[in-house]
Amino acid sequence: MKVKLTVEGFKCERCGHEWIARKKDVTPVVCPKCKSPYWNKPKRN
Ligand SMILES: [Zn+2]
Repeated sequence: MKVKLTVEGFKCERCGHEWIARKKDVTPVVCPKCKSPYWNKPKRN
């Protein structure tokens, strides 16, 4: 039987890259694409 799984992922606020972390409880330090450490912070402020 097939089931649809909802996987939690992250999205970079800087480049828009979306990815799935292996350990969802661990917040990535940098975006794997643009390497920005501010990937989870909006541009403003
Ligand atoms: Zn990025």
